[in-house]
Amino acid sequence: MNLHNPKIPVQTIDLRLFFEEYDEKLPQLSILRTDVTDEQISGNKWYKLKYNLTEAKKKNLPILTFGGAFSNHIAATAAAGEKYGVKTIGVIRGEEHLPLNSTLQKAKNQGMELFYLSRTAYRNKYAEEVLTTLKSKFGAFHLVPEGGSNQLALKGVQEMLSDDTVGFDYIVLASGTGGTTAGLYLAKQKNQKLISIPVLKGANWMPDEIKQLTDVDLDNSIQFYYNYHFGGYAKINNDLIAFANNFFEKTNIPLDLIYTTKALCGLFDLIDKKYFSPSDKILFVHTGGLQGNEGLKVQKQIDLKC
Ligand SMILES: *Cc1c(COP(=O)(O)O)cnc(C)c1O
Repeated sequence: MNLHNPKIPVQTIDLRLFFEEYDEKLPQLSILRTDVTDEQISGNKWYKLKYNLTEAKKKNLPILTFGGAFSNHIAATAAAGEKYGVKTIGVIRGEEHLPLNSTLQKAKNQGMELFYLSRTAYRNKYAEEVLTTLKSKFGAFHLVPEGGSNQLALKGVQEMLSDDTVGFDYIVLASGTGGTTAGLYLAKQKNQKLISIPVLKGANWMPDEIKQLTDVDLDNSIQFYYNYHFGGYAKINNDLIAFANNFFEKTNIPLDLIYTTKALCGLFDLIDKKYFSPSDKILFVHTGGLQGNEGLKVQKQIDLKC
């Protein structure tokens, strides 16, 4: 399998467009655009899947994984499976709703087999009982957990950083399961600081999770800011929509509302509070996830321009 990595553009943003009243020199902000690396499989999910695909292919097994009905991870798995000839099974939380939403319809068209678990069963999806049911239905499979975070994922995520990113003082990103943050913690330079902005409410389990995933103790080069979840996972308000629209208007960079808008709002708030010094160079990781906006626009009827 030819799984070479595309080059990820690093785009510098003029922060004065957003901080007109700022009375000091602003730090430098650049965006690591993993959202534009591929038409189909962009964002952090590609890096998390990369070595899981290799493993599934080597063992000649389908990938079975889990997600909600609008999941970026489900979308990426279906697309990657089609592209690299690995069969995929998506175990979806809740009942089937017809017609399928855009995420699931596309996944199905790409050959993913969809299977629905009740919310109760889904909560216990890794329990022996549920896994036995799945095995009797689908036979052997390579299991990738919900959100795609496992050891193989960390290996792929580390490849998001390169010579292009070593000059930055800070790396900032949105965290969901913490898998991407864990990979970046391992890959960053010692002197680089990593800022994780969890998009789930009550995510103080995040440092422990990252410690588990990386199998190393965390030093103070990683910091977590828990106040930018905007009410919890996938909760959207008008401030977020306005932020994403304004950012898109001024930079032409689209943001997804569930992860990158929240994290960038958090970063802008830290900049506003003079958390950074004027000489700091900040790299914000655009983790992709734009397919999710389509679902939100239809489901919540919001006026989102990107
Ligand atoms: C899944 C996802 C994340 C979170 O990644 P984790 O590895 O689960 O922390 C961040 N941004 C986007 C756009 C995502 O789809």
